[in-house]
Parts: sequence; structure tokens; C-alpha cells
Amino acid sequence: MSREQLEKLKALQQDETRQPASSGEWDNPLVRDVVGEPAGVLVHAGEENQKRANATLLSLVRNSELRGLLRTMKDIETNFNSKFNYPWTFFNDVPFTEEFKKRTRAATNAEVRYELIPKEHWDTPPWINPDVVSVSNEILVEDHIMYAKQASYHRMCRWNSGMFYKHPALKDVRWYWRVEPSTRYYCGIDYDVFRYMEDNDKTYGYVINIYDAPQSIRTLWPTTLEYVAKHPEYVHPNNSLAWLIEDTKRPNHNKIANGYSTCHFWSNFEIGDMDFFRSDAYNKYFEYLDHAGGFFYERWGDAPVHSVGLGLFLDRNKIHWFKDIGYLHMPYYNCPSSKKCRGCIPGKFVDVKAFNRENCIDNFFSLIHEN
Ligand code: GDP
Ligand code: MN
Repeated sequence: MSREQLEKLKALQQDETRQPASSGEWDNPLVRDVVGEPAGVLVHAGEENQKRANATLLSLVRNSELRGLLRTMKDIETNFNSKFNYPWTFFNDVPFTEEFKKRTRAATNAEVRYELIPKEHWDTPPWINPDVVSVSNEILVEDHIMYAKQASYHRMCRWNSGMFYKHPALKDVRWYWRVEPSTRYYCGIDYDVFRYMEDNDKTYGYVINIYDAPQSIRTLWPTTLEYVAKHPEYVHPNNSLAWLIEDTKRPNHNKIANGYSTCHFWSNFEIGDMDFFRSDAYNKYFEYLDHAGGFFYERWGDAPVHSVGLGLFLDRNKIHWFKDIGYLHMPYYNCPSSKKCRGCIPGKFVDVKAFNRENCIDNFFSLIHEN
């Protein structure tokens, strides 16, 4: 990219920040009524037929994040897992310490597994040119993209995009709940969320829907369109394309990201079916993106990559908003109005008012399906 092009893009970006927040008042389902359990078939703790799904709680985590992880484990165990006893599976690019193992084992009655990521799943792939990486990362720095020069962050995003479901330890596992250290869970969950997914024919569950920094994914959408042109058969007839290409709320996001709104499911929480990610449609999509190099030359996140894949290749009725799950990953919340929640202000999205405009969950409802 030339300096002139870069200046133009920056001017566009500044325009963007002068626009008023787009979402304004909307009928927020988190406070519209008391939020109860989802409609559909539910299996509660202690009920007959309480057969567990083939599922695991899953966390990629560093040894140094033990404290934050224990905090989060306590939330999840108290609110959910003490009633259901799903196994925990921890992943790391280096071996877990004995202390990590001892303390996490003590935090649950369920089985705990510790898995090392194979080098070939983690290392920067050989087709990535280090000279191009250093030049392009400078552009990301100028664009104020966080973690621009941190190779491990790029690797983490790539692993979460297209590697986790290939790990041998998950070969026979179908469902996962992704957990990040230091996230908070505020509400009691009395039904089996994995069985909810399975019994109601859902594939992917999320809690938060936000805009991405468009400068981190400038070529993600054009690269996606190349793939789709080669494989039109993978696009689901009942897709979420309208949500992906929405361009009126934050038009400059869409412009900088070359046709993608940047609105995505925030993937630090997700409950999903790995069989979707293992499908040819998604997995070949990941391989195509991986060879294009944007995990390293740009800073493609696993959240927009999952979201674009889901938005194109999945029936939109198989996507579920867990609005009853009170959640925080700094700085954003999902807080339902419910007696089952403690410490979460109903309807609150973020402490800093100006950041409310990052919330794009209303796009999903207005364009995809009502909630
Ligand atoms: P952010 O939420 O985008 O700011 O990224 P985080 O720093 O929270 O990282 C996302 C997830 O990946 C967290 O669960 C981290 O613990 C994990 N993670 C990030 N980098 C590494 C790494 O180099 N090694 C390991 N084992 N985990 C990592
Ligand atoms: Mn995080």
C-alpha cells in the first residue's frame, strides 16, 4: 500500500469517528422482559434423560494466566458445571506447569485434560515471508492495531480460526464451549447448554456481537469472495449475507474492510459444533485464507473469520444468542434482566458510554432473525 493510499484510509477512519453513534435507542431484548431460559427442548440438572452431550469446556491459556482462569472456572463451576460435570480441556503451546495442573484440578470435580499443541499447528507456516511480515506489521502499527507485532497473537488467532478442532485430543469430541481466563459469568444456568444445542438443531451460540477494527482485516472479505467464486456450492441458501455486507450503520468500517461490515460474534465466548468447522465448506475456507497470508500480513482475528464462515456456510436459523448467559470479557458485557444473575446490570454493554456504538447485535436481529 502506498503512503498516499494509507493517508486516504486514515482520513476515512477519522470521518467515521465524527459520525453519531448509529444504534441509538432500540428495543433491547435484555431488558424488554425478564430473560428466562430459551424456548425449545431443555434438559435440566437431575432430570431423567440427563445424558451428557459429547462436549468439553475448552480453553487455550498460558501458565501465567492461572489466577484469571481460576476466577473464571469458579464462575462456570458455580453457575453451571457443578450440575453437569463436563470435562475441561486446556491447550497450550508450551507444557503446563505442575502448579497449573494442581490448582485447576482442584477447581472442579469433572475430568481435566492438559494438551500440548503440535508445533505444526502453532508455528508460522513456511509459506509466510518474514520480510513481508515486518513491512506489513509496520502498517498495522500506524493503524493502531493492537498486538500488531506480537507473533504469538497472530498464531493464536490462526489456531482459533482453523486449528483447534483438528487437535488429536478432540478427535472424538463434537461440542465445545470456549472459555477465556478472566472472563466473568454472572447467571445461574440450570439446563444443559450442550444438549440445548444438540436437541434444538443449533450449531453456534454467542453472547456478544461487535464491530471489528477494519484495518486489521482489509483483505479478509475480498479473499473470502475469491474462495466463494471457486466454491459457490458451499454457500447456504439461508445464509446471513445481509448481516455480513451491511453498510449503512458504519459505512467507513465497511469501506475499509472492502465490503464487510466487520460485525462479528465475539469469539472469546462460543458454544459450537466442531463438525461445522470440520466440514469441507469451512475447513477449505480456512486453508484458503491461511495460504493468502492475512493471519500474519494483516491481523485477521478468529472472531471475524468464524463469523464470515458461519454467515456464509450455515443456515442462519442454527445460530443462537445465549441472551440468558450473563458475561463479561473486558470491557463488554451481556447482561440479561433475570433473578438468576448477580453483579451484572441488566442491559449494560460497556462502562464507557462512547463505546456503546461498538455493539452491533441489533443488526443481527433486524437483518437475520428476530429475538
Ligand atoms: P484478546 O482477548 O484478543 O485481547 O486476546 P487474549 O490475550 O485474551 O488471548 C486470547 C486467548 O488466547 C486467551 O485465552 C489467552 O489465554 C490465549 N492466548 C493468547 N496468546 C497465547 C499464547 O501465546 N499461548 C497460549 N497458550 N495461549 C495464548
Ligand atoms: Mn481475551
